[in-house]
Amino acid sequence: MKTLKIGDNTFELAESIINDLKASENLGLLKCIQCGMCTSVCPAASHTDYDPRDIVKRVLDEDESLISDDIIWNCFYCYTCHSVCPVNNSVCEINQILRQKSIEKAEGISKIASFLTYGDSFLELGIGSIPNDFFNDLIKDIGEEYFELKIHLDDIREELGLGTLILPEDDLKNIKKILKKTGFTDRLTMIRRVKIDEEDTR
Ligand code: SF4
Ligand code: SF4
Repeated sequence: MKTLKIGDNTFELAESIINDLKASENLGLLKCIQCGMCTSVCPAASHTDYDPRDIVKRVLDEDESLISDDIIWNCFYCYTCHSVCPVNNSVCEINQILRQKSIEKAEGISKIASFLTYGDSFLELGIGSIPNDFFNDLIKDIGEEYFELKIHLDDIREELGLGTLILPEDDLKNIKKILKKTGFTDRLTMIRRVKIDEEDTR
């Protein structure tokens, strides 16, 4: 693959984002006109210093330090920027890819470590579940009803005629195979290992 070059400027970071599996076909990253529409509608930008327009500028400036910058973790993937961009760019997708790069460098692990039990539940049950780390916060936010719901979930499901959450054994085996083949299982192991190492060095 040839690296795009304009004058003396190369766009290796931007190219790596455009060619990432997570990027939409025809992602308009290189067409960004810095109009700031994304920033004007971004809920995260209205409450913090986070600025999606600036994220794109830094990518186009080949600012690799962005990968290690906490600022990329402010986006919560609402896709509002994506829906208004006049050139089909998506800061939402760009952030997803930058975060993956941060995780690959092991720098972003601390940001996602609390989601480990979410990944574990896919391996154990074949479905996602709310991470344990958020349990107390949810009880605080929603109230004791949440705790009651969790405790009596099986009974409530039965009453509603929904059956059990447990998947048939063959389906679970197939899900595990997919998770292994796609690298999900290894990635979960890597995240857990880095988390343990980080805790040991504290
Ligand atoms: S809305 Fe699109 S073109 Fe405008 S600054 Fe944001 S990413 Fe660039
Ligand atoms: S997806 Fe992220 S960058 Fe885009 S509007 Fe939502 S919070 Fe802002």
